[in-house]
Amino acid sequence: MNAFQPHARVMPPDDGLSEAERGRILAKAAAFAPPPMQDADGRRELVGLSREELAQEMALIGEKPFRAKQLWHWIYHQGARDFSAMSTIARPMQQKLAERFVVGRPGVATEQTSTDGTRKWLFEWRDGQKVETVYIPDHDRGALCISTQVGCTLSCSFCHTGTQKLVRNLGAAEIVGQFMAARDSYGEWPTPKGEEGRRLSNIVVMGMGEPLYNYAATAKALAIVMDHEGIALSRRRITLSTSGVVPMMDQCGAELGVNLAVSLHAVRDELRDELVPLNRKYPIRELMDACRRYPGASNARRITFEYVMLRGVNDSIAEAHELVRLLHGIPAKVNLIPFNPWPGSPYKTSTLEAQHAFAEVLNAAGYSSPIRRPRGRDILAACGQLKTESERARRPA
Ligand code: SAH
Ligand code: SF4
Repeated sequence: MNAFQPHARVMPPDDGLSEAERGRILAKAAAFAPPPMQDADGRRELVGLSREELAQEMALIGEKPFRAKQLWHWIYHQGARDFSAMSTIARPMQQKLAERFVVGRPGVATEQTSTDGTRKWLFEWRDGQKVETVYIPDHDRGALCISTQVGCTLSCSFCHTGTQKLVRNLGAAEIVGQFMAARDSYGEWPTPKGEEGRRLSNIVVMGMGEPLYNYAATAKALAIVMDHEGIALSRRRITLSTSGVVPMMDQCGAELGVNLAVSLHAVRDELRDELVPLNRKYPIRELMDACRRYPGASNARRITFEYVMLRGVNDSIAEAHELVRLLHGIPAKVNLIPFNPWPGSPYKTSTLEAQHAFAEVLNAAGYSSPIRRPRGRDILAACGQLKTESERARRPA
């Protein structure tokens, strides 16, 4: 059995190169750090602090660790935003906290609900930067698609976000804040007991940005979301999507143990270099090796390979067979995503016949390979369509 061991440290081959590369990636992320998480009046944001940091903040004002535990419960289990609602805390202490701290949420610049129930928010942060978040309902459950960066450093040729430069990384407060604001919107506080019947039951880290290029903040936010005394989402209900930042994949699996999705989109390096330029750094072979090592992947927890279907570019039967060959030995499923066009995009969506023929080859080889129906098309909420106006607005026309 290939059961996940939460404390296992599975690291890449110890060649020194990956280690150095990982250090470089983490250092670079710091250069795009978010502004300090505090209000204009100097009050500090409590959302996004780890349990340890929250306890430190309490120690600094002479409070014992149990105060941090109480706050954690109110913030992440009850969803309280106002200290005066925290009824297990005595009034003078509520006031003391309110003088120094805030429990914030992103500003909601826009909120739209599609005819199919998909909901999209444009959230605004303290510095005026914005990102999009999408909720995709599915009967009595649903997935929230969250963003990790304003823009993206990678410029995949089919992706609308990729046409926007990286403005900055989101902080842990902003990443977890997207989930908390969505819960506000659906009134799903306090955290429902058990996992069944929650409307916000899953998270997919598939919004704007490359999460493994903002690993520290993403990991911190997901640890908060998974904490049993708060939002309490299990790691099995969280899927992180990467375009293939190989040196960070092992760490992600070992530390977070969330499900992995890999944006593959091509089976030959030559084509993938063009569609996903990061491939020039971490080619298909290295990427597939990292998938083979991914801790926790098993037949019960498969790695999802995302494959955007581009007409006449990557959708031939021969490529479907090559994909089957590449996936050999990896517990995998494939999400076929019909390309979502955006204004000025250079590609067309594959024909229905091509989509079905491609899926047929994968199915015959034993891989589940659903063709993803685009959701929220009327509000431009489908995969890859997320792009804020922030960059364009700042540039002269
Ligand atoms: N940066 C990460 C996560 C965000 S992108 C990554 O690339 O995996 C989320 C998914 O949307 C990726 O699989 C991406 O390839 C896909 N996507 C981007 N643009 C798209 C488009 N125009 N049509 C369909 N899927 C798209
Ligand atoms: Fe960035 Fe992912 Fe879009 Fe590529 S597909 S540009 S990695 S957000």
